[in-house]
Amino acid sequence: MALKSWLASANDPGSDFPIQNLPYGAFRYRGQTHIGIAIGDRILDLFACTANGLLAQLPEEIEYACRMETLNALMELGPDAWQQLHARATYLLDAEHASDETRQKTEAALVPMNEAEMQMPARIGDYTDFYASIDHATRVGKLFRPDNPLLPNYKYVPIGYHGRASSVVLSGTGIRRPCGQTKAGDGAPVFGPAKSLDYELEVGMFVGPGNRLGDSVAIDDAERHIFGLCLVNDWSARDMQAWEYQPLGPFLAKSFATTISPWIVPLEALAPYRIPVRKRAEGAPAPLAYLRSASEERDGIDLTVETHLETRAMREAGMEPERISRGNLRDLYWSLAQLLTHHTSNGCNLRVGDLLATGTISGPDEGSEGCLLEMRHRVNALRLATGEERTFLEDGDRVILRAYAKRPGLPRIGFGECAGLVEAAR
Ligand code: CA
Repeated sequence: MALKSWLASANDPGSDFPIQNLPYGAFRYRGQTHIGIAIGDRILDLFACTANGLLAQLPEEIEYACRMETLNALMELGPDAWQQLHARATYLLDAEHASDETRQKTEAALVPMNEAEMQMPARIGDYTDFYASIDHATRVGKLFRPDNPLLPNYKYVPIGYHGRASSVVLSGTGIRRPCGQTKAGDGAPVFGPAKSLDYELEVGMFVGPGNRLGDSVAIDDAERHIFGLCLVNDWSARDMQAWEYQPLGPFLAKSFATTISPWIVPLEALAPYRIPVRKRAEGAPAPLAYLRSASEERDGIDLTVETHLETRAMREAGMEPERISRGNLRDLYWSLAQLLTHHTSNGCNLRVGDLLATGTISGPDEGSEGCLLEMRHRVNALRLATGEERTFLEDGDRVILRAYAKRPGLPRIGFGECAGLVEAAR
């Protein structure tokens, strides 16, 4: 029988946060910032757990990390410590095991999620964005190079670029439409509000222990450096991007804002949803040796990812946001381990709290596109239930990303929301 919590809301089949999940985040409640674990409609306050003696049997460095205002100290401890804390939190919340006294102390450390204000989970030193979806790369490539959509390096090199960490913001932060240079047709470039604002549905991984400058992380060790996963919206101004991206790649079209979801789902919680990596097409090259993993059979993750859109008209009519895409992390060409290993293969050092994102997650089928740009290959613009149409985002649009893993016999594990509302340019 599946594990259940004594906290009823954690057993609600609609909850993103059953006892099998236990994602980490930082929150502010009654004037204090603590780190905690999401469970049902509550947050298990880890600072309060240390104060109540609930973590006293864990190594001192774990208790110490649980008293911090961000997850960095915990991230740095590595997978053995993460596993010990995860096991202890599971024990405290488990309906079968916890004694009355333990349960009372644990209850006293719970905070109502709707009264807490989520904070940035970590101090992010560096943010890197990859391009790991071959379906995204092919569809976008087709718009620019119809005869040669996929560049020849794609099947060998996990393509990525260095993003901007200072403008990574938490879900719920308003997204101001950026201004920049754009150039239409043969005319001269102009400076003004971007007209082609887009979202990109991505998954981010937070780096735990880093590697020393000059060292690299072997592919079979890569996941020991991944603390957990969140959702990422890599907002993109397509008209600015088209004008600026050659020859060095994206710059101001991407750096105005990147939204992350507040909860970081540990890899351990996703273990039951691990699957083989995507099978490469007939004739496609095998990865070079340094990217070849001994665990290809479980390097993929069966994680459904969705984009929902709420326009101003929907809000005013009291309508629910409309789902506009559904894809899956399993469709990526490169695994998370391959992305991390490739990043360090030249001796580049990753540091605790770094954020590495997959790039737009799209699948092969219509309806699985992870951004609006790709949907332009359809004959018609995106038509919504309100009768409105979208080619790109308009002011007042709210984009909500969601993700979940599910499998018969196991509860659904969700990522919570990664949301942002587009505000008019200044
Ligand atoms: Ca991106």
